[in-house]
Amino acid sequence: MGKTGFVNCRKCILYLYLLLACVFAQESKSFMQHPVFLYTASEIESIKGDSSRNVEIQNLIKQADAVLNEPLKIPEKEGNWIFYYFCPKDNAMLKAETETRHICPVCGSVYTDERTIAAYRTHINYKIDRDCVVLAKAYAFTGEEKYVERVKRVLLTLAKIYPSFERHDRWGRKGILAVVGGRRYAQNLDEAVSAIDLASAYDLVADASCFRMKIEQSAKNSCRTQSGRY
Ligand SMILES: [Zn+2]
Repeated sequence: MGKTGFVNCRKCILYLYLLLACVFAQESKSFMQHPVFLYTASEIESIKGDSSRNVEIQNLIKQADAVLNEPLKIPEKEGNWIFYYFCPKDNAMLKAETETRHICPVCGSVYTDERTIAAYRTHINYKIDRDCVVLAKAYAFTGEEKYVERVKRVLLTLAKIYPSFERHDRWGRKGILAVVGGRRYAQNLDEAVSAIDLASAYDLVADASCFRMKIEQSAKNSCRTQSGRY
């Protein structure tokens, strides 16, 4: 290859690189804007401007404030079927005295077995998922970041501990034998409903500054790690 051919070849590679860069740049623009699941940004503005929805929004804010006043403890082990958290003698839902001691409000029976404790974790998980949606909606209608922090904490904690959960079902089967089982929950239906709630909550708060700061910090850390390798 002569010098001219070599230069032309380098130009071709450069053009190809630029072309690919443009293609990927276009693709990156095609990511959807948040929020889109429960409400779009225009729907949120429309509801905020509708005086007939004021009571609804104020009730939502009260619910979110109540959630913030409660302690958050995210279960770090798998949950079991929610109906194991009912007294078999009278079908009453149990009350937690502690994390490991549960009382039937009708007959007073006490349950301390692992199956009941695991079902209680499911009861807690249901509430955490619902609370995330309430908090995320409160942020959407107020713009107050205080409602986002707990959603972020739940999502980041679950992202960290979820891989440690073993797939299981309510009959005690594990792994691939738990065909309709779940990981955080004992059945895949609950797992799917939970994913919808958590994704919907994230969608509403994704543009909050504390999430953007987290992503920017992750990018900086990644750059430092990469630069340290070379
Ligand atoms: Zn009972």
